[in-house]
Amino acid sequence: MAQVHPIARLGGWEGYEVRAQWIEPRAGRTWCVIRLEPVRGYERCCSRCGRLTPAIHDLEERRIRDLPLFEHWVELRVLRVRVECSTCGLKLERLAWLAAYARVTRRLAESVARLCKVMALRHVARYFGLDWKTVKEIDRAGLLRELGPSTSTASRSSRSMSSCSTRAIARPR
Ligand SMILES: [Zn+2]
Repeated sequence: MAQVHPIARLGGWEGYEVRAQWIEPRAGRTWCVIRLEPVRGYERCCSRCGRLTPAIHDLEERRIRDLPLFEHWVELRVLRVRVECSTCGLKLERLAWLAAYARVTRRLAESVARLCKVMALRHVARYFGLDWKTVKEIDRAGLLRELGPSTSTASRSSRSMSSCSTRAIARPR
C-alpha cells in the first residue's frame, strides 16, 4: 500500500498528492509551502456539467492559501487541472476543497466568513494575511449563501453543484 504523506492525510486535498513541502521565511513570518500534484489515474470532474473524465488537457500552477498550520501560514502550489470534457470542451476541474478560480481553499473561506461576522473585515484580512478585497469577496459570497436560493447567484451555484458526483461535492464541515 502506498505511503500517504502525513501532511496529505491532514490536508485532505482530494485528488492530489504532496510532492514537496518546505518552510520559508517571508516578511517576518514563516510559511509552510506545499506542492500538490494531481494523483494519476484519478477521474476528474468538469466544473461546468459535473461529468467525470480521465482526460487531463493541461495543468497550471496556482498559489492557493489554506488554513494556518501550527505557527506557519500555508501556501499551496497546486497544479490545477483543466479537463477536456466531451460536452463542454476545456474546463477547470471541479474540486470539493477549492472553488474554481478561488485563491483560498473552501475551509479557509469558511473560517474567514465566520470571523467576518464578529470582526471588521480589515482585521480578518490582517489575521489571515489576506488581501482585504479577497476577504470582502468571501464575506459577500457568504451573505449571498445565507440569503438562500432566492438570489440568482445562489440558485445558479446550487444547480451546478447538484450535477456533480457525490464524491466531488462531499465537503468537510
Ligand atoms: Zn462538462
